[in-house]
Amino acid sequence: MEGVIYTGIPSAEELAGCPGVPSEARMKRGRVACIECVQEIPCNPCEGICKFGAITVGEQITNLPCLNEEKCTGCGLCVANCPGLAITILDQSYSETEATIDFPFEYLPLPEAGDRVEAVSRSGETVCQGRILRVTKLPAYAGTAVIRMAVPQEYIDTVRSMKRLPRGQKKGSATK
Ligand code: SF4
Ligand code: SF4
Repeated sequence: MEGVIYTGIPSAEELAGCPGVPSEARMKRGRVACIECVQEIPCNPCEGICKFGAITVGEQITNLPCLNEEKCTGCGLCVANCPGLAITILDQSYSETEATIDFPFEYLPLPEAGDRVEAVSRSGETVCQGRILRVTKLPAYAGTAVIRMAVPQEYIDTVRSMKRLPRGQKKGSATK
């Protein structure tokens, strides 16, 4: 059985029909939110946090959030404010060879900029090596850090997070 109800991971079919997923053309133009929220649950903080009106849930609170990719500036505010950890920021314009992903991360220890880590898929399987570019942790984000990581362009549709670092590992001691 596939799909978010059975596995907790959205299937390719669910993602293809998801109104929060941006087009490839938009990702190639620069940073944009990718909202992989495919379950009709009563939730809408993403809509309220976006100052640019790029996310619409609407009056029916169980509607799936709909992204207006032209209004999205890629500011990233919605990433740490989604309780479902369903939002990332993707950027395929980063370089010829690398794309970037900003993802929410709630485990300690946190990596540091410059670290090389294992980039993982939606199901937590290692996909490739990722390079940490930035770690943002603001009081407003509560316990959620937002990590920016560069990965080879060909893996940007597959990578959604990084493997947890071993407990007790010193900050910044992942492979450089
Ligand atoms: S990245 Fe910024 S502009 Fe885009 S949907 Fe999220 S909050 Fe709105
Ligand atoms: S805040 Fe997150 S889980 Fe809630 S509707 Fe928005 S994208 Fe979905």
